[in-house]
Amino acid sequence: MTPPRPLVQPPVNTNTSAAQTLTAPELALLREAIAESYASRERGRHPFGAIVADENGVVVARRGNNSMPPQGDPTQHAELTAAARATEHLTAAQLTRATLYTSAEPCVMCAGAIYWAGIGRVVYALSEEKLLGLTGDNPENPTFALPCREIFARGQRVVEVYGPVLEEEAAAAHIGFW
Ligand SMILES: [Zn+2]
Repeated sequence: MTPPRPLVQPPVNTNTSAAQTLTAPELALLREAIAESYASRERGRHPFGAIVADENGVVVARRGNNSMPPQGDPTQHAELTAAARATEHLTAAQLTRATLYTSAEPCVMCAGAIYWAGIGRVVYALSEEKLLGLTGDNPENPTFALPCREIFARGQRVVEVYGPVLEEEAAAAHIGFW
């Protein structure tokens, strides 16, 4: 007789980010994500950008926003598409050691994509709260008021989160846009 399966206890997502500091190469990677947000804006898209780097800091995915119909698709946020792209290049084990750098805190949809892709760490610049202040109730981007840490905390897999950092640099891409 097989013993009953233990109840799955979601791990407590202990956020240790306060004790961490980003290295210079990591700050450079975050600035690359911010640069993607400017590139998106220049293409007439929403000013968001994300990249995924492996444990050695090698960029394996780089995406801007493409959420505006008819050419785009409302689900094509930069983080979601970067996370999906990363899974084509990294193994499951490598993904747990990879980091997604994003110009703005992942929304609930993108946090879900990061979780399901198995990416182990997120570094974001602009907080969702600050982004909400910038977009307001703009119908093109009715920003959630839901920190990504709250979403990851409900999962069964730990996703480390670091942010906000370089908020002013990331916010500048949104000034005058919404
Ligand atoms: Zn999103």
